[in-house]
Amino acid sequence: MAEREEIAQARRWVVKVGSALLTDDGRGLDEVMISGLVEQLVLLRQRGCEVVLVSSGAVAAGIVRLGWTARPHLVHDLQAAAAVGQSILVRSYENAFNRHDIPIAQVLLGHDDITARDRYLNARGTLHTLLRLGVVPVINENDTVVTDEIRFGDNDTLAALVANLIDADALLLLTDQQGLFQEDPRNNPGAELVRVCDVHDASLDGMAGEGGVLGRGGMVTKLRAARLAARSGTETIIASGRRDDVVARVTAGEDVGTWLRTGKQPQNARKQWLASMVQIQGSVELDAGAVRVLCESGRSLLPVGVRGVHGNFSRGDMVSCRDPQGVEVARGLVNYGAEDTRRIMGSASSEIESILGYELDVELIHRDNLVLI
Ligand code: GLU
Repeated sequence: MAEREEIAQARRWVVKVGSALLTDDGRGLDEVMISGLVEQLVLLRQRGCEVVLVSSGAVAAGIVRLGWTARPHLVHDLQAAAAVGQSILVRSYENAFNRHDIPIAQVLLGHDDITARDRYLNARGTLHTLLRLGVVPVINENDTVVTDEIRFGDNDTLAALVANLIDADALLLLTDQQGLFQEDPRNNPGAELVRVCDVHDASLDGMAGEGGVLGRGGMVTKLRAARLAARSGTETIIASGRRDDVVARVTAGEDVGTWLRTGKQPQNARKQWLASMVQIQGSVELDAGAVRVLCESGRSLLPVGVRGVHGNFSRGDMVSCRDPQGVEVARGLVNYGAEDTRRIMGSASSEIESILGYELDVELIHRDNLVLI
């Protein structure tokens, strides 16, 4: 128990639930399972945690709704099934959360929405706003236009990218296995469960095995997802969604499932990740007051502290922040393109809307997206 103190302290959770758990042996969505899961998530929120749910199950629900008896092979058929099934899936969650008077939001994303920097900022802004409003975002891949998860991942990778996006403390991958085993438990019933391991430990690759214990969306994709999540300092736990009170037990720090630990301070991991993410596209020159605010108080950069703009960057690009002597003091993802930054520099954030005719963010660079040099 003491060993998982770090997990018990996690406050922002991404919980991912796979199709195998949500479907009722080809009879569509398992409403009992969904209600049970939702009750567990409600309890987690009552403990003061924030919850983002990443749920598969749209394809499975669509297949049943369309009267098909087997999973199709053509990707467009799978996409069509996902489009049909998504509304059924979200209706189930809406009904279940509504019983607890908790609003949910349907969010459909692709991997590009998280790696393209402008969309990254938009998705991040919306998800943070939803969390602040007490809404549970229910995320799935936007299967109509992208097919990464439908073909390979069953949302494991998407869940990890979402964890990066919102700086989640922990990612819980719920599956129909108890966790990652040292050998395939189907071949060796005595195979031992890995309880805790460094996520970068090379011996894990052999255990997950190519083709995976579970095949599509199997342990290989889960391990890859855990490594992606670790980039922003998120801890990953893989556990069985069929175990009683699994969410409560994992999040209380009980020794359940497999914990793939990052071994890093989340703050440092995230900043390293940001720094490696993109090339610098331009720079802004700060006044002495802004340099102090950034370097000493660790606050966001506001337009009022900027006195010069160099280069031709877009929203979401990485820009270098320089002091009045031209020395780089920080770099970060900028919320406004170069042209708009020139127009709002030196002005109070409350004036952004009247100058530009719109306001996206009050900061020019949010402190979470800023790395001090
Ligand atoms: N995004 C898909 C879903 O929700 C992935 C799962 C699948 O391909 O079956 O159904």
